[in-house]
Parts: sequence; C-alpha cells; structure tokens
Amino acid sequence: QAKADGRGVYRFYEPDMNKRLQRRRTLETELRAANLDEQFYLVFQPIIDLDANKVTTFEALLRWRHPVHGEVSPDEFIPIAEDTGAIVPLGEWVLRQVCLELKSLPESICIAANLSPMQFKRDDIVETVARVLVETDTPAHRLELEITETLLLEDNRKLHVDLKRLRKLGSRISLDDFGTGYSSLSYLQRFAFDKVKIDRLFIKDIAKSADQAAIVQTIVNLAFTLGMTTVVEGVETEEQLRIIRAMGCDEAQGHLFSKPIPSDAIVGYLAEHERKRTAA
Ligand code: C2E
Ligand code: MG
Ligand code: MG
Ligand code: MG
Repeated sequence: QAKADGRGVYRFYEPDMNKRLQRRRTLETELRAANLDEQFYLVFQPIIDLDANKVTTFEALLRWRHPVHGEVSPDEFIPIAEDTGAIVPLGEWVLRQVCLELKSLPESICIAANLSPMQFKRDDIVETVARVLVETDTPAHRLELEITETLLLEDNRKLHVDLKRLRKLGSRISLDDFGTGYSSLSYLQRFAFDKVKIDRLFIKDIAKSADQAAIVQTIVNLAFTLGMTTVVEGVETEEQLRIIRAMGCDEAQGHLFSKPIPSDAIVGYLAEHERKRTAA
C-alpha cells in the first residue's frame, strides 16, 4: 500500500522494497544451502611496502559465484551472512583457504583475512583460528587478521581479551576501514593493533582537499606515536601515492598496484612487480 506522501515520491519505494526483500530472502536461503567449495572463492590484492617498494601481503577478498544469480557482491552477501549466522562456517572456510594458499607462496609473503564482528560474538573465535593454523600447519605470523572499526562499538572486555589472545598466537591484527566508524582515536590505544588501514574515503580527494590531507596526516602521526603501521586503502593514482609517501605512510593498497587477482595469478604478479622494481 502506497504511503500518503504529499509529493507522491514514496509511492515508488514499496514495490522496490518488496523486490529487495525478496532477493534478500532468496540469498539467505541460497547462502544456507550453498556448497562453499563450489560457489565461493577468494581473490587477492597486493599490499606494498612504500620504503622498499616490495609486496608484503595480499588481502584475501571473498567472492560468491551463484549458479543462477551469478556474481554477488560481498557488500551484499556479507551482511546477510552476518545476520543469519552463515558467516561462522564461511569465515572458517576463508581462514582455511588462506592458510592453504600460503603454502604456495614465498615465506616472506603474508595473507590478511577479514574477520567479521559476528565471528567475535562466538566464544570460540580464538580457538577456531588456532585450530585452523594447526590443522594446516601454518605459522601464525603469516596470517594477518583485519577487523572493521564498527566492531569496536561493542567496546567490551571479551573483545579486548580475544584480540590479545589472537595477537599472542602470533598473528598481526589490523584495524580495517579506519575513520568510517564511530570509534574514537583512543580506541587505537586501548586495543592492541599492529596496523591501521585508513579507509579509501580519505584518499579519494587527497590531492585537492586540504582537509582530507590533514586527516590522513593526523592518523599517520598518531599511529606512529602508538607504534602502529599505517596502510592506505584505495590508492588509484600516482599523485595519491606521492602524497601518502611524503606523509610517511608505511604501506599502500589499491588499483594503482593491482585489482584483486585470482590465486593462480599471484606468483606471476610477484615476479612482474619484482622485475619492475629492480629495473626502476
Ligand atoms: P575491505 O576489507 O575494506 O576490502 C577492501 C575493498 O576495497 C575491496 O572490496 C577491494 O576490492 C576494494 N578496493 C581495493 N582497492 C581499491 C581501489 O583502488 N579503488 C576502489 N574503488 N576499491 C578498491 P570488495 O572485495 O568488494 O570487498 C568489500 C568488503 O567486503 C571488504 O572491505 C570487507 O569488509 C568485506 N569482505 C570481503 N571479503 C570478506 C571476508 O572474507 N570476510 C568478511 N567478514 N568480510 C569480507
Ligand atoms: Mg579488509
Ligand atoms: Mg578496508
Ligand atoms: Mg571496506
């Protein structure tokens, strides 16, 4: 039924909303029924150390190819997986795939996996990570864990303890999408993070916007003071790269270096990056 809105604008929202709800319900069901190995796969995006111009890490990004609906974006299916609890088996699947992938990469390369806040709602997140590391015989220092800032809203003791225990295992912890959530700078200090990933929102117009530049510089300085490494996300142009390098950022990730690539393209990417680096 249409809303009685004077301008009649809202009239169009209802059928749209129905369609969206329907798609959501369909995806919910499909997600529950999906054979993970058949429908899900990871792509990998390099993260570059700006001093050495070397690849240090790849971020693993989850993809869903549904036999009927085709590619579904993580921005659409991750929230559904979080709401339905499907993120728990899916998240463990990601960890395992990442550990298996590490076996075919040079020892100096790490992979970062994204952890959902929902995975921390469970009591056994630390045990799950530890178990996957043991089962796949993976040294913990080659696995990095990225946690989005929104999680910190639930500023509780359990989270604090979980993060500490994860670090104790030997994995580095990154605070993802920094600047987009609600957490204050004091969170950076309270929680023990190794890295801060500055959201691409702050990089987009950094060449034109003095405000954006000031924000990024402030985060970089603060992270440095607290002994954390900074990673800038969404670097797309040489100009952005020049600016963040001058600011003292440690690492960068973005389309300028590479879009996320399939597993079988990683070794080739590393060789090509190394060739360019030594030729430069
Ligand atoms: P994120 O963890 O912040 O990952 C970075 C996102 O930025 C990725 O989007 C990546 O493709 C995109 N990106 C990287 N460089 C650039 C650039 O230069 N320009 C632009 N425009 N975009 C760039 P993607 O792969 O679509 O993933 C979206 C989000 O979905 C991720 O954001 C993460 O929050 C979530 N996600 C992805 N995989 C997983 C997963 O395995 N588990 C969980 N819990 N979340 C995941
Ligand atoms: Mg991430
Ligand atoms: Mg991010
Ligand atoms: Mg993001």
